[in-house]
Amino acid sequence: MRQFHVLGMPVHIQENYVDWLANRLQGGQGAHVVTLNAEMTMQARQNQELANVIHKADLVVPDGSGIVLYLRSQGEAINRCPGIELSERVVQVAAEQQWQIFLLGGAPGVVDTVATKWQQQWLDIAIAGMHHGYFDETDEQRICEQLQSSNPKLILVGLGVPRQELWIQKYRYLCPNAVWIGVGGSFDIWSGKKNRAPKWLADNNLEWLYRLYQEPWRWRRMLSLPHFVWCVTKDSIVKPRR
Ligand code: UDP
Repeated sequence: MRQFHVLGMPVHIQENYVDWLANRLQGGQGAHVVTLNAEMTMQARQNQELANVIHKADLVVPDGSGIVLYLRSQGEAINRCPGIELSERVVQVAAEQQWQIFLLGGAPGVVDTVATKWQQQWLDIAIAGMHHGYFDETDEQRICEQLQSSNPKLILVGLGVPRQELWIQKYRYLCPNAVWIGVGGSFDIWSGKKNRAPKWLADNNLEWLYRLYQEPWRWRRMLSLPHFVWCVTKDSIVKPRR
């Protein structure tokens, strides 16, 4: 596995992330997977706790085009690994192997729809449990008990950044041999509640524009994108291309 850095955050480059994760699971080893994009990178510069979790993660994949464009500008021939696609492929392997899966996050009802869809798609899929992402302390305790008793091999956590990363870090000890992935808003897309950007927009690094169109209230958060461009440009001037 090769490791690079984007504004101080690690990024791991692998030939095949799914095989790497499946091998780890087969060997009884878990992993925390972070799907890094420009927004998260900028958040981590302000949030030391989030930065620490990213540094500790076993796998940090280049989810966003900002990350990829920056590394390419440094001469690294790398491709994007969208977290949603990686997670889907790991779910498929888990379904084939009948590994237990746990789904946590999204508005009430969303993971239920996802589970129903996946059960229709993969008849042998084993869903160990699920819960929406708007829980109180009592619910949280029940979720933790359920995690510990069902001991799933794959845990998808969609609570938004940085909550999901901090949550995984806090509770990973409950299922240390599982693969935990912070999936952001992926449950909304898998359930059909939201759409992914059309491929031509993603291919032109404009997924953010579609997101802004679909969720205009995100505009303030998305100001971190020009800030990211500014920071990496400054960084490239100080640290010219190898
Ligand atoms: N969410 C949640 N609990 C919360 C806050 C958010 O389950 O307390 C969910 C929300 O319903 C959505 C996802 O977390 O499905 C956040 O999606 P977003 O696209 O904002 O993810 P990010 O860009 O933060 O990764």
